[in-house]
Amino acid sequence: MKKNDFMLIAVILAVAGAVWLFHSFSSRQADYLTVSVDGAIVGEYPLSKDLEIPIGKGNICRIEDHKVFMASADCPDQICVHHTAIQADGETIICLPNKVTLTVHHTKQQSEVDTIVS
Ligand SMILES: [Zn+2]
Repeated sequence: MKKNDFMLIAVILAVAGAVWLFHSFSSRQADYLTVSVDGAIVGEYPLSKDLEIPIGKGNICRIEDHKVFMASADCPDQICVHHTAIQADGETIICLPNKVTLTVHHTKQQSEVDTIVS
């Protein structure tokens, strides 16, 4: 290999690294799950703890390994159950028939939660 080839590889790696950094920054990992039913927020949970959350009558969502997915639902389409687990800031799982929305965020959405607790 010539010296120029090494230079070219170095440049390519640098560009790839920059793109990767930008990508991982723009799709940063979420830390909180917001659960809403019919447009109203019913709960907010940190993703740091594995948890099973029953929502409404028929939905059960689960936090596992910093990811969120719908473990089971009684809706007819089952789209929410088949949805892949969400973990990046702003991703959502929606159960249309039951009007359940799961959204993951980088920061807490409800500042009132802190106020109520303290
Ligand atoms: Zn559903």
